[in-house]
Amino acid sequence: MADPNEPANCATSIQRILAAAQFAAEKHAGQKRKGTAGEPYVNHVIEVSALIARSSDVLDTNLIIAGLLHDTIEDTGVTAQELEQRFGRDVASLVLEVTDDKSLPKQTRKALQVQNAHKKSQRAQVIKLADKTSNLRSLLVSPPADWSVERKREYFDWAKQVVDGLNAPNRALKDEFDRTYAQLEGIRTPDPVQA
Ligand code: NDP
Ligand code: ZN
Repeated sequence: MADPNEPANCATSIQRILAAAQFAAEKHAGQKRKGTAGEPYVNHVIEVSALIARSSDVLDTNLIIAGLLHDTIEDTGVTAQELEQRFGRDVASLVLEVTDDKSLPKQTRKALQVQNAHKKSQRAQVIKLADKTSNLRSLLVSPPADWSVERKREYFDWAKQVVDGLNAPNRALKDEFDRTYAQLEGIRTPDPVQA
């Protein structure tokens, strides 16, 4: 396998990662996160890929690229074939592994994420963990205006069920997820003051 730290390979990696960032920005153009700040959607996929990049000392360029592209099939019109042509089969199959079947009802998709978590490849599990961590972070700092504390709690608990289902979670990312999950305490409804 080519040494990713060799300068020529390193340049190729950076070029491919930036091409994926540009592609994601184009495809998610005009999409916003649901939070009150209305952040551009691309902020989320950059955060996911940054979490992936920081999760290991070993460079996995295709995994970082898949992090940038992880929502393109689900949320934009991109096909797996297009991803394969542009970024290769490995990237396309990683993105497919973390793509829900949008023809199914939302509740079914959510249940399937929990049931299927342990079947994902180790690398797809890295994307899952980074994705859920990013979503919890944004619910803490910029929650959708119409989400009650109860609804946030439901989302946190569902995300934890998915993460608990992973059988090969990356240790650094799992710690990051747990720290983020623990911050939910700060948004829990306080107990009524005892008289
Ligand atoms: P979710 O509740 O699953 O919304 C979260 C999803 O929205 C994430 O998976 C994420 O997608 C995306 N998202 C976009 N912006 C943000 C953000 N700022 N923070 C976190 N996630 C963000 O889906 P829906 O909004 O479609 O709601 C349907 C679900 O909500 C159903 O399960 C329903 O039961 C429940 N619901 C609960 C209510 C309640 O009050 N308890 C009321 C109404 C619905 P991605 O992972 O692709 O980044
Ligand atoms: Zn996502």
